[in-house]
Amino acid sequence: MALGEFELIARHFTRPARRAVLGVGDDCALLQPAAGMQLAVSCDMLVEGRHFLPTVPPERLGHKALAVNLSDLAACGAEPLAFTLALSLPQADEAFVAPLARGLWALADRHGVDLVGGDTTAGPLNLCITVFGQVPAGQALLRSGARAGDELWVSGELGDARLALEVFRDRVSLDAAAFAAARRRMELPEPRVGLGLALRGVASSAIDLSDGLVGDLGHVLQRSGVGAEVQLDRLPRSAALAAQAAEVQQTCVLAGGDDYELLFTAPPARHDAVQAAGRAAGVAVTCCGRIVDRRGLAVVDGQGRPLGSLPRAFDHFA
Ligand code: ADP
Ligand code: MG
Repeated sequence: MALGEFELIARHFTRPARRAVLGVGDDCALLQPAAGMQLAVSCDMLVEGRHFLPTVPPERLGHKALAVNLSDLAACGAEPLAFTLALSLPQADEAFVAPLARGLWALADRHGVDLVGGDTTAGPLNLCITVFGQVPAGQALLRSGARAGDELWVSGELGDARLALEVFRDRVSLDAAAFAAARRRMELPEPRVGLGLALRGVASSAIDLSDGLVGDLGHVLQRSGVGAEVQLDRLPRSAALAAQAAEVQQTCVLAGGDDYELLFTAPPARHDAVQAAGRAAGVAVTCCGRIVDRRGLAVVDGQGRPLGSLPRAFDHFA
């Protein structure tokens, strides 16, 4: 069934605000961060064919659109408050919009975030979310805080989203169970919000992995004015990925993209505190390298030999 614009907003995207002062329905929403808190704001767009395949179930698309945004708050150690949704849809088709909204609300409810506004238009399928979070003034985790001597850490496992993409591209084959698991990692990423909060005051820098480790770590190194040595064998990966050819593994863990894990640094004296943060958040954390004075990124194999060339990071315009 097709819906009108306002009917669609009212039916699927309007709920009473819990944390916001004012939610959907007026010209602006009103947010009030707690005393002493700074507002953390981030925006991410998902475009069909670019960021997701037409095969993605709409419920998972709703989840992912919010998840990738919450992941940015996680990387800053910010607590999610609210988000807006700008939605461009080819048709206001109930069979598509209802599950999309369901996936979105399920994740929003788990993190207690309010949908406080947005914009809805006909056009190519495109979802753009802006999230608002709060973080104690001066305590946000930034890309610029890595220092020589820091340990380099990563949460969860890397590369499964890319592995699933390689299956869709017919370059890799997996058994049905392994493919379903990898596909979940691609379509239902879990933003590491709890870990980001637990790392405040512990990590020296952080970023979320959206474009692949090589590229995203490169942003941290550049902003921090340091270099890094990463141990390839220590980068955590699923059994399904570990069973692939070495070249596939390297591409997936180093340049996979769509992992939405946190990559962060901390002084060695905080090693136990990082592990405690991981336990508190219920997320595995793995020390996979260190920050060095010498600029640049070296990825070394099990024998300590640097890889000759690194897979290129994802760039929308390259
Ligand atoms: P305006 O004309 O002021 O831009 P709209 O008519 O576009 O307002 O939207 C009406 C109300 O519905 C506003 O409060 C807006 O924030 C909200 N809204 C529009 N689209 C969405 C959406 N996809 N999700 C949530 N709220 C939305
Ligand atoms: Mg509008």
